[in-house]
Amino acid sequence: MTPSNEFAVDFRETRYKGYKSYSYLKGGSDYDEFELAPELGRMPLYDLGLDAEQHERTRTLVDDNIIISLHDHPQVFPQDMTQVRDYIRTGREHTGYEGLSRSGMTAVFDNLMDGTACVTSKCGWKWDDIIYDIGMRLSDISHQDYVRIAYSLEDITRAHDQGELALVLSLEASTPIENEVDRIDILYGLGVRQMGIAYSEANTLGSGLKERGDGGLTAFGRRAVERMNSLGMAIDVSHSGDRTCMDTYEQSSKPVLITHAGARALWPTPRMKPDEVLRGCAETGGVIGIEAAPHTTLSDAHPLHSLESVMDHFSYCVDLMGIDHVAFGPDTLYGDHVALHKTFAASLGVHDAQNGPSYEEVPYVAGLENPTECFFNIVGWLVKNGYSDEDIKKVTGGNIMRVLGQIW
Ligand SMILES: [Zn+2]
Repeated sequence: MTPSNEFAVDFRETRYKGYKSYSYLKGGSDYDEFELAPELGRMPLYDLGLDAEQHERTRTLVDDNIIISLHDHPQVFPQDMTQVRDYIRTGREHTGYEGLSRSGMTAVFDNLMDGTACVTSKCGWKWDDIIYDIGMRLSDISHQDYVRIAYSLEDITRAHDQGELALVLSLEASTPIENEVDRIDILYGLGVRQMGIAYSEANTLGSGLKERGDGGLTAFGRRAVERMNSLGMAIDVSHSGDRTCMDTYEQSSKPVLITHAGARALWPTPRMKPDEVLRGCAETGGVIGIEAAPHTTLSDAHPLHSLESVMDHFSYCVDLMGIDHVAFGPDTLYGDHVALHKTFAASLGVHDAQNGPSYEEVPYVAGLENPTECFFNIVGWLVKNGYSDEDIKKVTGGNIMRVLGQIW
């Protein structure tokens, strides 16, 4: 039995047997070792104020259902974040196997390093670096038997049946493909099943949310969307400009995802989506994953970023888009996310994206600090706030499975 302790909820046992990333090599001689952030016990368990019956219902809902995060970075970062660039330059990111094994999740859209994949360049998004990152992660994953790569829906259901975790390889932007549409096939061949159009900056496909002018999807972008449709690769517009989002909906013959964002009506920053873009996503048949990275999904009702502010965006999107079109993409990691944002603020356009009302900084998002705690707290909140088992099942995985069935 998985021990119940103060660090994580006692979900059902998984196949995890203690593997640590790259333990098939000798740390220190084969590769540079860094002291990594802990995967468990990073924060005390968040107190949702559930009674015993609600706690048990929450635990059972997570255990029995397919739970999917539409956007996360389930990697482990250095404990001392001043080392993060040196760590990344080794091209050897560690997967948080132990933390994930205690999360209750069935599948995670794993966004690799992409924008922070600075192996050969300090600005990120280079094709060589993306390939280096995918290959290195796959090598590590091949040496253990708890995490499997999801190439199809069956891989996700099998992961649920066998106590495994399915990783869906994803990229936040298509920038690394430059003007080569065939590179989308190459990425698909390497296992990538979801890709964003543009990150904060414009690229050959379209515009990002940090640009002042958004020219919409380019001619090349339209070809890329067609190719992703033909291959069965999911399209994400989380970081794309508003017009680029709308053009993508129009061009795509399949549902389009917003894997991690929130509602601009609640928090007016470029990173959040206006109603028109949210409704447009639902009209394609797509879903939004509600975002929880530090200082993104704030609200006037809960201006200190926490589970409560994130759930304000959830409730708003359910009202606007319908319960069948909302899910969660918490965008968490193992390590100090606020410090990571500060290190990469310039190249990732973090400040441009968060350009809006002033807010008080928090050291972490209470209740949604790391991949291990996300889904117990999300489901617990839904239980406490009167959602039915059927609706909880939809927003924590069912909606994503339906849409992936149409896209993949
Ligand atoms: Zn992102």
